[in-house]
Amino acid sequence: MQTQILGLVTPLMALFFAATFVVLWRVGRMKRHVLGFGIAYALSAVGFLITHFLPADAFYLFHVTQVFYALGSTLLVASVCERAGQRLHLGSFAAVYLISALALGLTVSFSNDVGPRLVVVNMGYGVMFAMGVTTLLTARRRSVIDVAIIAIIAFQAADFLVRPTLTLLFEKSIPAQVYRESIYYSLIGLVLGVKGVTTAIVLIGATIAEWTNALRESSERDALTGLLNRGAFEQSMRNLLPRAQTEGRPLSLVVADIDHFKQVNDIWGHQAGDQAISSFGGLIDQMVRGSDAAGRIGGEEFCIAVWNCPNDPAERLAERIRQGFARLEHASLNDDIRLTASFGVATARDGETYEQLFARADSALYRAKSSGRDRVENAEERRLEEAAPKPNPKLVELKRASAG
Ligand code: GH3
Ligand code: MG
Ligand code: MG
Repeated sequence: MQTQILGLVTPLMALFFAATFVVLWRVGRMKRHVLGFGIAYALSAVGFLITHFLPADAFYLFHVTQVFYALGSTLLVASVCERAGQRLHLGSFAAVYLISALALGLTVSFSNDVGPRLVVVNMGYGVMFAMGVTTLLTARRRSVIDVAIIAIIAFQAADFLVRPTLTLLFEKSIPAQVYRESIYYSLIGLVLGVKGVTTAIVLIGATIAEWTNALRESSERDALTGLLNRGAFEQSMRNLLPRAQTEGRPLSLVVADIDHFKQVNDIWGHQAGDQAISSFGGLIDQMVRGSDAAGRIGGEEFCIAVWNCPNDPAERLAERIRQGFARLEHASLNDDIRLTASFGVATARDGETYEQLFARADSALYRAKSSGRDRVENAEERRLEEAAPKPNPKLVELKRASAG
């Protein structure tokens, strides 16, 4: 009776973890790899339950349980790879299955000893988990959690590859009839339990970390454009400004506002207006670099922090966005209608605060509006000799000579 109850601990634990992953996936609206973890644990739980409830001498027992364990392991490895943005080579996996099944068939038909079967089956799992590790190692970015996941999958691979051979060194042969009384059988229950729990803990930790990251990301994003919202943009400017000063890098700010936008709402409705805002946001997002920060700071007002960028190229960036927007077609407006936007550009001065920099860029934008819209105005005063083309001294000399 006691062993009966103890034998249920592993499948129930696996079911509990399966349920945890499914709940995390549903409630957190997470990607499908989290559901994959849940189904993988559920499949192993079914395998454990079959082993527990069917008589040990049922001849099909071994094969049926292996189907569930193999599917569960494949799904687990495929899901951790998908989480890392890598695709597992399923063809190679299928080849491992086939070779293991053939080798298993041979060992079962030639010997009543469980030992060789265990070595074959476990080697198969070992190779699958090792393939998972090599696939995970090809991912470019690696956080602490990614390293923990690689370590736990590598631990699984090592255990599958080494344990059966080691155990058989101590317990030379295990006849099928006494398999459940063997040291191996009691050891495998313990090892599977420990591996199952540690893997689940690492994966649950990774899933919760993904969830909180997604929550933080969405609280910083503007729903209409996917750009930063006002608070997050201001925060990133407050981080970038001191960094620019200590690193001695130029930081420019572009402020943009769609022209005559009230009329868009009045004529085509608020939804059409929203679509125009979304297209402008999309265009800005395409045109900035990963190191820049772009945000929607008001209704149809946008800001771009152009990192490591002096005034002139920042003005040219604003000009490219202006031209791109003026060419953009809007499905929700009449075919021939194009919208325009006005821009103000300023470049951070020594010791300047975000409010001061923004005020200068904003007054340049005001100038762009009052001088006719659909243009870029620069807050930086250009010195005369920079603005006007310099006379060529040779030509001046020639002119003087010909005049004389
Ligand atoms: P100007 O060329 O001077 O900028 O003229 P404008 O009509 O664009 O004036 P202003 O920038 O002051 O007007 C912004 C309008 O944008 C006011 C408001 O009705 C509209 N608006 C603000 N937020 C949203 C939004 O989220 N969606 C839509 N559709 N409209 C918005
Ligand atoms: Mg406007
Ligand atoms: Mg406005």
